[in-house]
Amino acid sequence: MQILQQRTFWTEPPTHVRVYPCPACQETISVDAPSCRFCHATNDVLVAEKLWADNRQVTTAVTRANMFSVSSRSALLLTGLSIWSLIVSGGLAEIWVVVNLLALSYGAQWLSHNDSLVTNDADYAEAVTKVKRAMIVWALALLIQVTLNLIFYGFPDWETIFVVE
Ligand SMILES: [Zn+2]
Repeated sequence: MQILQQRTFWTEPPTHVRVYPCPACQETISVDAPSCRFCHATNDVLVAEKLWADNRQVTTAVTRANMFSVSSRSALLLTGLSIWSLIVSGGLAEIWVVVNLLALSYGAQWLSHNDSLVTNDADYAEAVTKVKRAMIVWALALLIQVTLNLIFYGFPDWETIFVVE
């Protein structure tokens, strides 16, 4: 019995369990099951494989959106550091601007990459909102830094930001 359990654990790690929402009742079921264990609807293997692939894409998108959303909390810290360095060093710190722009481009890429996803998944709808909200936070952080720099020192020297010598 113990040997059997170990072997099952070895050949089927939890990350490889292929699940998707049943088209009939929306409960999470396995691709390998011939019928839904909740509503007993029969599952076509090809349809199941397709739905599983879609579901995996949604799950990945939601995970990335959550990570991006968490990252926006560091925008506050970053803005604080940037303002401090603005006052101390007498100019906008290029690296903070670059980090802001990278974060914004990540959000934009997430939105365009997952644009084609068609899903009723509530987590996914929430993920889209989270990404947009995080982008607003990052954009505001950038706006505050640039505005403060304008107030203190006038227009930044963009060439030193974008041209790496
Ligand atoms: Zn079902």
